[in-house]
Amino acid sequence: MSKNQLVLGIIGGGQLGSMLCQAASRLKIKTFILSDDKNAPAKNFCNEFIHCNYKNLEEIKSFFEQVDIITFEFENIPFKTLENISKTKKVLPSPKIIEIVQNRQTEKKFINELDITTTSWALIKSKEDIEKNKHLLPGILKTCTLGYDGKGQYVLNTLNDIKDEWNFSSNYILEKLVDLKQEISVVVTRFFSGECVSFEPIENVHENQILKNSKIPANIDKKIYDQSQSSAKIIAQKLDFIGTMCVEYFIDKKNNLMVNEIAPRVHNSGHLTINAFIISQFENHVRAICNLDQIKNEKISNAEMINILGADIENYRKKSFKKNEFFFDYLKKDIKDKRKMGHLTILK
Ligand code: ADP
Ligand code: MG
Repeated sequence: MSKNQLVLGIIGGGQLGSMLCQAASRLKIKTFILSDDKNAPAKNFCNEFIHCNYKNLEEIKSFFEQVDIITFEFENIPFKTLENISKTKKVLPSPKIIEIVQNRQTEKKFINELDITTTSWALIKSKEDIEKNKHLLPGILKTCTLGYDGKGQYVLNTLNDIKDEWNFSSNYILEKLVDLKQEISVVVTRFFSGECVSFEPIENVHENQILKNSKIPANIDKKIYDQSQSSAKIIAQKLDFIGTMCVEYFIDKKNNLMVNEIAPRVHNSGHLTINAFIISQFENHVRAICNLDQIKNEKISNAEMINILGADIENYRKKSFKKNEFFFDYLKKDIKDKRKMGHLTILK
């Protein structure tokens, strides 16, 4: 790789990694992806690629020695790995943030300490802990770590739903089931200067706990709009976040806003920013972590994004699209049920 070009290392090689590579490439920044999947889709979009286990510190060394700055596209990277890399190279956002956010208990505690409302929840280490917190039923039991797209989640309507085979070898949180009116997210980017910029709230629809579609503008009132923008910025500031992150919110039937979770990275609901704004969430992330100029963003259009899951991708691959429709194929080798295979953004 040429010596005078900045090289951005990205841990994780999924579609978010691919879109970060495309944004970096437009900014003339080279990309080097590290992934534990030898067929990682981002292989198609980066300049360099290394396949290795995220715990193999020896092999990871050959990756971080060749890059200038390191970032990541998912939060479930072993904290030890990030901490180890950060002794030699700048990792942004900081591994300390990942340590808080990759565990649902520390994440929720952090948000509550800022006086920002989340769902009601309790830490669960045993069957007895669930019994003690039965006021949270009906609820969802979620593993504290390693969950995504609804994985590691169990709905508990009554105490009878507790399964005998559960051995509670890892910690859980029990969250009260929210009577949902809507879900929204706010994508924010914080720069070295401390300045925070955010996209307008995005309205999200989930199916089977997986994001199905996102749209702007969100159909919300001014109170929810302002509250969601301001909480997301407070969270980014208090985390001392550099780069792009996303706050997912629930709105209940009584119009109460509560934080669901923080994604310390670019987010699926922000895909529509690629076509609907002059600067996408991905470009903003690269600009922030590489300390490039912050450019004033402008909205081009309202938009809707549809996630394409599993075998449905084959239908989309055959389709022709209108001028306002933008199809993204993640080029994943294997089609699996419910796997995110691509997305379509429609400008409206
Ligand atoms: P993941 O880390 O898998 O994204 P989330 O906690 O965001 O997990 O849950 C995924 C989706 O499941 C949410 O976006 C929402 O639609 C639904 N869900 C999760 N927790 C609750 C809850 N407490 N009440 C109602 N719906 C929930
Ligand atoms: Mg989520």
